[in-house]
Amino acid sequence: MAHKKEKLSDKVARGDFVFRRPARAGETPRTFADIYPQLASLDITVREVDGSRASRVVDHLSVSSTPGQVIDCRNPSCKGGGLFLDSDIDKAIRQALPTIDVSVKCRGVTRQRPRLVSCEHTFKIAGTMSYKAATH
Ligand SMILES: [Zn+2]
Repeated sequence: MAHKKEKLSDKVARGDFVFRRPARAGETPRTFADIYPQLASLDITVREVDGSRASRVVDHLSVSSTPGQVIDCRNPSCKGGGLFLDSDIDKAIRQALPTIDVSVKCRGVTRQRPRLVSCEHTFKIAGTMSYKAATH
């Protein structure tokens, strides 16, 4: 029985999340500026680090970016893996933090007989944010 490899982005395509890309039918993708009107600037780089510690940039975000909910893992043997992009960035912006620098393990698993083990890829989210002066 053949299995089509399911990507994390396929799983969450219909979910209700803060970041949504692709947008649902008839919906305009929202930028960071749309989601967070208090944001003055944002400059975040997302890197994927593999088991040999090699890293590559998989996303670069600014206030005018339309953030995707997930970044799929590029490990070819990883199943359903990737990064939920919204949780850490959303928390940092809501707390009006000036910087973010977190590492998040891939959520996926790889088959290593006789069992499944966690994917060894890690995502590093690092960058800076600034905020408009409060108007109240
Ligand atoms: Zn993975």
